Amino acid sequence: MSGSATNEERVCALCDRVIREWLSIDRFSTQSCSVCATRLGRLLTDAPEALASIWPSLIEEDTDEPEPRVRMPDGSSVELRTRTAELKKELTIEARLKLAHTYGELGLHREQVLECGTILSLEPGLAIAQGALDLLMTHRFVAPDAIERLRPAMFPA
Ligand SMILES: [Zn+2]
Repeated sequence: MSGSATNEERVCALCDRVIREWLSIDRFSTQSCSVCATRLGRLLTDAPEALASIWPSLIEEDTDEPEPRVRMPDGSSVELRTRTAELKKELTIEARLKLAHTYGELGLHREQVLECGTILSLEPGLAIAQGALDLLMTHRFVAPDAIERLRPAMFPA
């Protein structure tokens, strides 16, 4: 990799790659590359329990209550969360980031982390990715050693 003196370079806190374009992780005074941000998003989407020590909100409370169901126009009935997931697919990425903010305001901390994961997994532009990463890293219940915990979770030996 050839560097130019005018271009600042930094090191991704997660994969150690030298990067010229990064997402700030101000809370931990560091930064990440966008590849790692996408990887984090996919992990949050595919295996959220693997990251529960970083975002304890990911642990799903065991409730005996069945998931509510909604009636579809064709008379069939589906789980509310399945229907919600379908509806969210129609939202723009900006609207999803707004939704992630709203989840936090409503105290829906688990939904907020998962929504940020989905946003990052969709490889949005830098500005949107930064917004989602900010929400994750300043999450009310994020582990104080999140970066140290994230590295082995994202890159198992
Ligand atoms: Zn990286």
